[in-house]
Amino acid sequence: MSVATDTGVKARVHPSPNHGDRAEDAPIDMLILHYTGMQTGEEALQRLCDPRSEVSAHYVVQEDGSILQCVPEARRAWHAGKSFWKGERDINSRSIGVEMVNPGHEFGYRSFAEPQIEAVIALCADVCARHQIHPWMVLAHSDIAPSRKEDPGELFPWDKLAAAGVGHYVEPEPIGSGLFMQEGEEGQPVEALQSMLALYGYEVGINGSFDRRTREVVTAFQRHFRPEKVDGVVDASTIETLHNLLSKLPSLK
Ligand SMILES: [Zn+2]
Repeated sequence: MSVATDTGVKARVHPSPNHGDRAEDAPIDMLILHYTGMQTGEEALQRLCDPRSEVSAHYVVQEDGSILQCVPEARRAWHAGKSFWKGERDINSRSIGVEMVNPGHEFGYRSFAEPQIEAVIALCADVCARHQIHPWMVLAHSDIAPSRKEDPGELFPWDKLAAAGVGHYVEPEPIGSGLFMQEGEEGQPVEALQSMLALYGYEVGINGSFDRRTREVVTAFQRHFRPEKVDGVVDASTIETLHNLLSKLPSLK
């Protein structure tokens, strides 16, 4: 007997026991992208389906482009952990989680394979269309948990996804010399930076103090939008790229 998946894209079911009820009235309005961050895809899949691990995702996309569905979309998968976006904390209740096999920063981070990216694009386009997920709600795990997470990382081709109509993107401004702010600084420019990061959706205090959290959020922003240099230091390219992004910010609600 073959079990049906939720997606119209070619996939097969590989069930995980790790899921629960979504919070009542929570709409599915976010899509979170991850990498598995383990040595092999096999190992990652085992972990995502092991009841002792208490982690899971709705989908796993392997490097050859094959897609496995581990948790039904109607159920709350356990992929986001402690996280935040635009005031929401129970991201698992309102999102679909997609894991991409990649060893990650710990075990030999590498470019995502072409067939894998093609499959991710097809899957995400399908998920976003069925749930009417806004392109600005397609995010990295590192965006919603900047102090804990680096995935899917600076090698993930957000530009390719956006070109295919998935998610959102802004061209990074070239890196040059120019003003910068970094950890330890205080003042109105820091507060303005924090306001912009918070407006986009990050959890960061607007206190005028470039603290550790601010550095982590700047790092997450760079990983997503200015991947050439991910150092947590605000140079002219970082601030201009952030400005450009916010100039396109739609009103989501
Ligand atoms: Zn993750």
